[in-house]
Amino acid sequence: MVIKSAVLDIVCGITSKIPDTGLPEVAFAGKSNVGKSSLINGLMNRKALARTSAQPGKTQTINFYKINDELDLVDLPGYGYARVTPAEKEKWGKMIENYLHTSHNLKAVFLLIDIRHDPSANDRQMYEWILHNGYEPIIIATKLDKLKRSQVQKNLKAIREGLQLRKGTTVIPYSAETKQGRDEIWELIESLTGG
Ligand code: GDP
Repeated sequence: MVIKSAVLDIVCGITSKIPDTGLPEVAFAGKSNVGKSSLINGLMNRKALARTSAQPGKTQTINFYKINDELDLVDLPGYGYARVTPAEKEKWGKMIENYLHTSHNLKAVFLLIDIRHDPSANDRQMYEWILHNGYEPIIIATKLDKLKRSQVQKNLKAIREGLQLRKGTTVIPYSAETKQGRDEIWELIESLTGG
C-alpha cells in the first residue's frame, strides 16, 4: 500500500454516535502498551499521528485514521490499565461493544498480543468478544524484535494455546523497530477491504 494521505478523521467519545463513513474499516484492539499506536503509525508511515499510551488514564476514545480516502484504520481504546475504576472499565466495554455492534463498515478486527508474554485473562476475553460479535480476529504478535529468533516459534505457540485460537487463525509477528510484518499486514488489509 502506498500511503498518499493519512489523517486523524474522527474521534469518538463515549457519548458519540459511531460514524458511518461509507469507507471500509479495520479495527485494532489490544492491551495498553502492547504497541498498538506504534503499529498504526508504522502502517501509516507516520512517526506520531496515533497517540501513544504514555499517560495511562488518558481519554479513552475510538480514533478513525483515514488512509488515501480509501479506508479507515480504527484505533480502539486499550484495556488493562492497572488503575481504572470499575465505572471506567464499564464505560470502555460499552464503547467497544457499541462499536463492534454498530459499525456497518468493519471488515476485520486485529487483536494485538505482546509476543513475549502469555495472553492475559483480558486478552482472552477480548478474543471471545470479537468472535461473539461475528468477527474472526487476526492476531498480531507485537515487539518481535525483543525476542531471540530461536524463541519466536515457541512464543507464537504459547499465544495460540493461551487464546485457544481456532484452527487456521492468522497470526502475524510484527516489529515496530524493523517493520517486519508490515507488508503482510497491509496485504491482508487490502484483500479484506477490497483494495
Ligand atoms: P499502545 O499503548 O498499545 O499504543 O503502545 P505504544 O505503541 O505506545 O507502545 C508502548 C511502548 O512499547 C513504547 O515505549 C513503544 O516504543 C514500545 N514498542 C511498541 N512496539 C514496539 C516494537 O515492535 N519493538 C520494540 N522494541 N518496542 C516497541
